[in-house]
Amino acid sequence: MTFDWRDGYRDTSTCRALAGHIRDISTRPVTLMEVCGTHTVSIFKNGIRSLLPAHVTLLSGPGCPVCVTPSCDIDAIISVSGQENTILAAFGDLMRVPGTSSSLQDKRAGGADVRVVCSVMESLDLAVKNPSKRVVFAGVGFETTAPTVAAAIKEADKMKLANFFVYSSHKLTPPAISAVMGSGNSSIDGLILPGHVSAMTGADYFRSVAKTSRRAAAVTGFEPVDLLRGIAELIRAFESGETGFYNTYERAVSAEGNKPAMNMMNEVFDVTDSRWRGIGVISASGLAISERYRRFDPCHAFGIAPTDEADPSGCACGEILTGKATPQSCPLYKKVCTPLNPVGPCMVSGEGTCAAYYHYGE
Ligand code: SF4
Repeated sequence: MTFDWRDGYRDTSTCRALAGHIRDISTRPVTLMEVCGTHTVSIFKNGIRSLLPAHVTLLSGPGCPVCVTPSCDIDAIISVSGQENTILAAFGDLMRVPGTSSSLQDKRAGGADVRVVCSVMESLDLAVKNPSKRVVFAGVGFETTAPTVAAAIKEADKMKLANFFVYSSHKLTPPAISAVMGSGNSSIDGLILPGHVSAMTGADYFRSVAKTSRRAAAVTGFEPVDLLRGIAELIRAFESGETGFYNTYERAVSAEGNKPAMNMMNEVFDVTDSRWRGIGVISASGLAISERYRRFDPCHAFGIAPTDEADPSGCACGEILTGKATPQSCPLYKKVCTPLNPVGPCMVSGEGTCAAYYHYGE
């Protein structure tokens, strides 16, 4: 099906035409995983599910950075906030994520100096303006966030700042996708790959993961027309038995991506093994601050370390992040666990699957 981009990415008639096309070509049950939390929320907000045939199932994956950050890292970040002469800076969606016994919000209510920042550069600015205090930025995110954090660390290095630190819990998406696909989750027939990560890394970054998963995979944008195009491509491939790799977000994603950003990320961080909530340790799936910039790592500079704490019992975030369950199958969903009283991060984050189901209706 051809699409005229001048129609716009939210155009109702284009969406209807794409949905009709999907209904025409889809003949049998198919399950697609949207790897990215931003896709999950956009699918709900735009009513994409209601446009698809009933035999098309969409499952959420491990692509919400706050959700996949394990309790051991959340507790370590919270422990920083209790330290003397220390400002803990974090993005807003980390504030209410429950650690083992408290959250950053609880700590702030108790008098700890916890600041919500909109960018890592804001936390760098805090360090400049508060030279007598240590400023620790809670680094949580994927390949989209890590280059900006790398830029801040390089800037701090240039400025010779001695009071700026980053607790790095950054993660890489392809190893997690491989882990999910290799964990016996054979029900997934196609992968909706994250458009924003791909804009940074380049579409080719995901080619090998698509190949090893032996499923069709499509880099997809976030507007309703983008999503329906990606889904249509995956269903076309599924129906014809293809396991190809497709970039349906050409207007934002090139094959090679943003090379200066990736070079910066690769200079400041080393790839390391990393623990993911609900999945466990995945080899070569995280980013640790490299030797050259180690003085900015609070684990190295003043002994902060991930704890041994396990993720909360009863919370099914792990199953949900791996596509093995949906929020309704969690016994705590809407009963004990709500956005005001979250048990797990999937109910807190703006990209969390449980929060998306809660707010947008299933
Ligand atoms: Fe965890 Fe709450 Fe989601 Fe259940 S509903 S999986 S407890 S976040």
